[in-house]
Amino acid sequence: MSGIPGVTLRGVEALPVEVEVEITGGMFQFFIVGMPDLAVRESKERVRAALRSLGLNLKGRISVNLAPADIPKEGALLDLPIALGMLQATGHLKDCPKALYMGELSLDGRLRRVRGAVPAAFLARKLGMPIYVPGENAEEIALVKGVEAYYADTLGELFMMLTGQEPLKPVPPAYVPDVPPNAEPDFSDIKGQAAAKRAAEIAAAGHHNMLLVGSPGSGKTMIARALAGILPPLTDDELVETLIVRSTLGLETKPGRVRPFRTVHFTASTVSVCGGGANLRPGEVSLAHRGVLFLDEYTEFSRDLTESLRAPIEDGFITVSRAAGSVEYPSRVLLVLAANPCACGYAGDPVITCKCSPSDIERYRRKLSGPIMDRIDLQINVPRLTPDELLSFTEKDKLPESSAVIRERVIRARKIQEQRWREYGLTCNAEIPEKLVREHLRLGNGERDYLSLMAAKLNLSGRGMSRVLKVSRTIADLSGEEQITKKHIAEALMYRQSRG
Ligand SMILES: [Zn+2]
Repeated sequence: MSGIPGVTLRGVEALPVEVEVEITGGMFQFFIVGMPDLAVRESKERVRAALRSLGLNLKGRISVNLAPADIPKEGALLDLPIALGMLQATGHLKDCPKALYMGELSLDGRLRRVRGAVPAAFLARKLGMPIYVPGENAEEIALVKGVEAYYADTLGELFMMLTGQEPLKPVPPAYVPDVPPNAEPDFSDIKGQAAAKRAAEIAAAGHHNMLLVGSPGSGKTMIARALAGILPPLTDDELVETLIVRSTLGLETKPGRVRPFRTVHFTASTVSVCGGGANLRPGEVSLAHRGVLFLDEYTEFSRDLTESLRAPIEDGFITVSRAAGSVEYPSRVLLVLAANPCACGYAGDPVITCKCSPSDIERYRRKLSGPIMDRIDLQINVPRLTPDELLSFTEKDKLPESSAVIRERVIRARKIQEQRWREYGLTCNAEIPEKLVREHLRLGNGERDYLSLMAAKLNLSGRGMSRVLKVSRTIADLSGEEQITKKHIAEALMYRQSRG
């Protein structure tokens, strides 16, 4: 008896499973052994009904063994290899081609979309095997290069293919246009806010984390969202990385090059943000991988939640442990925080008067601290526009710049950085370690004196100074200048505000 290869998921990784089916005479009985979860145990009913739709009534004592025995098997994606094992054990399918099979069966024999097709395609490639998936999973795995992939929409159709009565249906190669579709909202949709737009451009260019401070209704969320649209388009590899996470969660995986944007609210649980839980799903920080993670109302976040975000934000991956071992999820994100300027929300507002006392404001400002505040390179105020400004009519030739135009500058600045840091395996200014800052971001005498003077004035720490230097480097890269000048430093200092 030879087994049918299937897969199960652990974190964002697919693991091979061998499905062995044995049928002996006697009363009808059906067992599944080998650490199946509830969904796998329920596959008995689906497989039995789906085979009946092909005219096959199962009889006798059926035992299904899922090997290796020590890995927990989860989800309905093993329905298909179990059904094929039955067809083999009953003599209907003589030689089942050696391949990975995955798919959930409906009672009438249709193959349903499953979670994890993208990691499974990578596993197939690693094992040098073809993979067969439900038609609904074909599009997402088309992006995995170098794998022989086929799809079918029903068990009956797959049976006809495997027995040579119908031609195989190869998954067509994916075509993802190189130009990203226009992201929403576009920067040209945002009125005013020149300073915040400029900060967003710098954040995107050097991958600098950013804090937006402004009253409710000032448009912080709009700016954060628009930031995702001026980041360089996802490369093929990055696109597949984001698809792996989405595929593992069973989310829609329409391939496109716009970077992810995910919002976390302060009421979110640590598991939903960082991942884990009983079934080890990735969290928001991994869904935001290669894109923007937006923490709205940052001052309301619990210390526990921000503490748990520190490692994934610094390391670019997150490790979740459970009794049976640990799994790793990717979490390389551009972090954007938003906060009100004070407890009532209206300090500095042009129209509404702030009700907070100076000591209230001082207490509130202290909340803008904590483990991930250390990772913020840029801080910018986002003032609410006055009614006059909101109603003002913009003439057509004075429309604000579009995201596409800004993105071009960001891409140019990124290319300069890639070249500069390539030999160190880094891609952007925000990533560079302290040692490289000292070696590579040398200033002229005048610039050095200016920075020390300002650092003393603003009470900047050594760490704060190197952040200013990195941001200055990005500002110089945006304007294509080789040397960091006082002008660049002065602008970078504006984004430090009062923090050290
Ligand atoms: Zn206030």
